[in-house]
Amino acid sequence: MLFLFIQKYTIIKYGKRLIIQKMKNNQYDAIVVGAGISGILSALALTKEGKSVLVIEKSDQIGGNCRTYEMNGYKIDTGPHAITGLDTGPLQTLMDSYFDKKPEFVPIGEYYARDGKKLKPIPITIRQLADFDIFSRMDRILFFKAMIDAVTISSLPLSKNRLEKSVYDYIKNYKFSPKALHFIDAISYFLSGKSMKETPAWRMLGGSGYLDEENGPNKKSKKHIEKIKKLAKGGYESQGYPLGGIQKITSAALDSIPDKLVEFKKNEEVLEITTDKEKVSSVKTNKGIYTSDLIVYSGFMKDLPKLVRGLKSDYSQNLKKLKQTRSMAIWFGLKEKIPELSYMGSEVYFDTNAPYWAIPVSNYDPYLAPKNKQLVGFLTAIREDSDQKQLSKLRNAIYKAIPNIKSKIEFEHMQITIPEKAAVTTGSHFPSPRSPIKGLYLVGTDTDIRSMGVTRASYSVLEALKFMEEDGFLKTK
Ligand SMILES: Cc1cc2nc3c(=O)[nH]c(=O)nc-3n(C[C@H](O)[C@H](O)[C@H](O)COP(=O)(O)OP(=O)(O)OC[C@H]3O[C@@H](n4cnc5c(N)ncnc54)[C@H](O)[C@@H]3O)c2cc1C
Repeated sequence: MLFLFIQKYTIIKYGKRLIIQKMKNNQYDAIVVGAGISGILSALALTKEGKSVLVIEKSDQIGGNCRTYEMNGYKIDTGPHAITGLDTGPLQTLMDSYFDKKPEFVPIGEYYARDGKKLKPIPITIRQLADFDIFSRMDRILFFKAMIDAVTISSLPLSKNRLEKSVYDYIKNYKFSPKALHFIDAISYFLSGKSMKETPAWRMLGGSGYLDEENGPNKKSKKHIEKIKKLAKGGYESQGYPLGGIQKITSAALDSIPDKLVEFKKNEEVLEITTDKEKVSSVKTNKGIYTSDLIVYSGFMKDLPKLVRGLKSDYSQNLKKLKQTRSMAIWFGLKEKIPELSYMGSEVYFDTNAPYWAIPVSNYDPYLAPKNKQLVGFLTAIREDSDQKQLSKLRNAIYKAIPNIKSKIEFEHMQITIPEKAAVTTGSHFPSPRSPIKGLYLVGTDTDIRSMGVTRASYSVLEALKFMEEDGFLKTK
């Protein structure tokens, strides 16, 4: 890159392009609020489009819920492990378009269910279902019927209304046993953040790969035959875990941002997004005022009505109705690898009032734990009033499921987070990444309802970029 400073302008040679930057005090081509993965991906895309970008982060950490940090020799993730859509999904599209170097992903293996001494793949194929003897024969027959019905419904016109109802409303007529219902409820929590009574049926289908997530819940699936084939073949080929920890995605994005086009401010909270004649004009933080006619907001959408004056009341009301879930994770460092956790993948334990999802991440990458040791995270949705009560329930569930683990623990670390900024619930109204205010775009896991986690965040960034192009903020390609 070649830099030439002329008074208040900088001329930057970036690739084959010459970019003339206005470098007036506190004035930027774009301001990104929040430095989680959706803010970072937005900043990356905007800088690669030649914009000067200011990223403002209220905490002292860059990466939000997409980080890995070291404690006692263990490398601990802030939560995510299964990155989906690595074939043609939105993160892959963003990586192909903007990353200088992509992280290396290893296959996430299998999703298992644990029950007593049994550990069985969660059935997504007919063969796995036949072998899933955690359930009675009758439950397995009912599951088969429900799976075929769901795949058929998702390929029919008008599937939306039938799949918008809750998982519970969808399955209640099948007369599953209480144990099977408990399992379905646990899976609902992991896929949406809420119970089967609040999770829409389409989310369950999308999460198991039986609905085309790129089209969202409202379109019927065009790939009926492929879905039927999936019932026979199964597999999670397009899902992976980044070698070195989840931070590798964040770091690869940060490393790809042209240094001279970005400025990060940490420990600074955006308190107001100021508008002028229904256009954004600046942001006010606890430390200063920065101006731009393009602002990307990646904080909680529930907070937006506090930050932006003059939003229409029905728009604000819908934002305030978005529901969230708090999650708890306990990470155990084990002084030796244990046979119960020797598989490649993750597991759901549901036969308890604290169902968990466990990820023995050092099986993906041994360097996440000291030599010959093991690192495993146990995640659950917080349903108790007191975090202490939830912690004790989670610990008890783990010791009941894997009694051998207790004597092997040499390190314990607990995290409490909000995994998705909005849970996908029946009737929830996610705002579009294009806000009603000109120049204000909204990204993160509460603006685009497709998929979940990092994939959902990436969908929102791609959608916001598309709108910016349509609105003339970015050059049309
Ligand atoms: C336990 C757990 C398990 C998970 N599992 C998976 C998984 O397997 N696969 C997957 O894909 N995803 C998973 N996720 C979800 C994934 O971590 C998130 O979807 C993703 O990291 C969200 O990124 P984000 O940028 O939208 O939000 P965040 O990471 O929340 O970032 C938002 C940032 O904005 C900052 N901010 C907010 N308001 C302001 C303000 N006013 N001023 C300045 N800064 C502000 C915040 O401090 C934060 O840093 C999991 C998450 C958890 C916690």
